[in-house]
Parts: sequence; structure tokens; C-alpha cells
Amino acid sequence: MDLESYVRALPKAELHLHIEGSLEPELMFALAQRNHVALPWRSVEATRAAYDFSNLQSFLDLYYAGAAALIHEQDFYDLAMAYFARARADGVVHAELFFDPQTHTARGIAFDTVLDGLERACDEARVQYGISSRLILCFLRHLSEDDGFATLDQAVPHLNRIHGVGLDSSENGHPPSKFARLFGRCRELGLHVVAHAGEEGPPAYIVEALDLLKVERIDHGVRAAEDPALVERLVREQIPLTVCPLSNVKLCVFRTLGEHNLKQLLDAGLKVTINSDDPAYFGGYIGQNFLATAEALKLSRAELKRIARNSLEASFVTEVERAPWLARLDALPEN
Ligand SMILES: [Zn+2]
Repeated sequence: MDLESYVRALPKAELHLHIEGSLEPELMFALAQRNHVALPWRSVEATRAAYDFSNLQSFLDLYYAGAAALIHEQDFYDLAMAYFARARADGVVHAELFFDPQTHTARGIAFDTVLDGLERACDEARVQYGISSRLILCFLRHLSEDDGFATLDQAVPHLNRIHGVGLDSSENGHPPSKFARLFGRCRELGLHVVAHAGEEGPPAYIVEALDLLKVERIDHGVRAAEDPALVERLVREQIPLTVCPLSNVKLCVFRTLGEHNLKQLLDAGLKVTINSDDPAYFGGYIGQNFLATAEALKLSRAELKRIARNSLEASFVTEVERAPWLARLDALPEN
């Protein structure tokens, strides 16, 4: 089996995927036309050409502009179904989708519109593709904690449909400590908690996310490598890191994929997973992230299998749901 087929054959969970970040320019333009929304670009090609980022903020500015095309329940359904079709082709058996309600409610889109469309797609993906999924509500960290509390109030009637909360958007200057009370409340409500930390921000933000937000996974976390005591702790507590290699290169966290520290983190004993983050903007879905990273860092098939296993173990599913995926993974040869 060649490497590409092997990567796709690995049963895997995607744990770091912003559904708004899977909006391909083609769909963005189709929705903009359907909804009579003006975009800042003239064409699909001009949009793609603008995807030349220098840091996280330069990407976020574009990302929020593109999200303006999403208006109706059907738009969110179409968006998520397009993602699930790609995920299925890449061997994803389970996906935990991040969504950013504040990006939409700030534009006057009802919270229910977003959630209804995404949930309908999740149901359809299970029927059509056999992919299970969960929804994780992300708070935008450049906004205030009070804004986060207002969003949580809107989410409370729907908590049977929301599995956890996360923290995303501009990291620098917005440490996890800013959201300690909000995350405390979310934990009281029985929600799983994760947070982006240590992508552009310092290792201290990862420590804050663990100590103050009490997160169960760290999204990105690659800058943990700068703090040996933190690496030791992450290994000891087996805190999963949802690493997104192509995103890291596109946003200049690493200059090239060959310089990425994923293998170093894996060798240190960290529970590393591979994910796509915002695949429409960063040049590849999860399969491409696995493949390009495997080639650049010369990962063995045993290592790829371990990364896929980490993703299944780090997902918020029951043992009963996880068992058949692990059995399928174990049955896959390492050659
Ligand atoms: Zn992310």
C-alpha cells in the first residue's frame, strides 16, 4: 500500500477543525450569490490569491470576511456537509467540530440558525457516511468574557446538542486567565473544555489553560517544547495536543514543514494528534496534513498509527463507540 492510501486507511478522529474554516472559495461565492452578500474579492481565484498570510491575525481578518456569506440554516448545513464529504474521503470516523457562534450572532444571525444547520448536517453525515460527530462551541478570545457569558446564555437551552466549549481567535494578548470564570461555569454545566494555547502565545498560556480553565486537551500547544517542565507535565498527564501542521506553516509558526516539531513532541512521549484547523484556508484537509507531515518528517507507519490511535483515545466518545475504531486500527498492518 502506498503512503497516501495508508494514510487514508487509518481510522482517525479529527479534533481540531473550525467548520467556518472549511468554507472553500467556490462555496463562499455560491452562498454570497444566493444570499446577495458582497464579498471583498472579485472572484474565486482572487480569493485564493489573498490566502497569503503573515501571522494568525492576517488570516483571521480574511476568515471573518468570508463568514459573512453564511446567513441561513441551509448555508450552515451545506458548509458542514461539504466538510464531511472530504473527511470521509480521508478516513475520518469521528469529528469534533468547532463552531464560532459570536462570528454569526454579531452579524444578526440567530444562534439557533447556526446550530440547527450544523446539527442537521451531523445527523446526515452519520446516515450517509457513517461518521459520528460532536459540536464544540468556541468563544472568541478577542472579545470580552462578558460577551462569552452572553453567548453561553444563548447556548444553555441547547446543551443537549453541544458537547463542549473551546477558546479560539487572536491568541496574543488574550491569555486563558481572561476566561477563568466562564470556563468554570461551563464545567459546572457538564461541558467538556478545550482551548487553543501555545500556537503563537507563550508556554505560560498552556499552563494557564491547564491550571485555570482545566482543559482536557490543548489545541495546537506546539510552543510547549520551549518549556521542559511543561513537556514533562503534558507527558505525565497525557494531555492530548491537537496539532495542525499545515496551518502552522501557513501562519508562519514554523518556516517549513521540515522544521515542524511534531516528531520531537511525539518522541518526547506527548499525546500528539494531527488535524486540519481551517483546511479551506491552509491548503489541505486532514489526509493531506498526515501525508505532508509524514513525508517532511519521515514518520514511520507505526508512528502514523500511533497518531491515529491518539486521536481516537483523545476524542470525547464512549468506550463502546471507540472500541470498533481501535479494532480496525489494530488490524491495519504497518507495511
Ligand atoms: Zn484552530
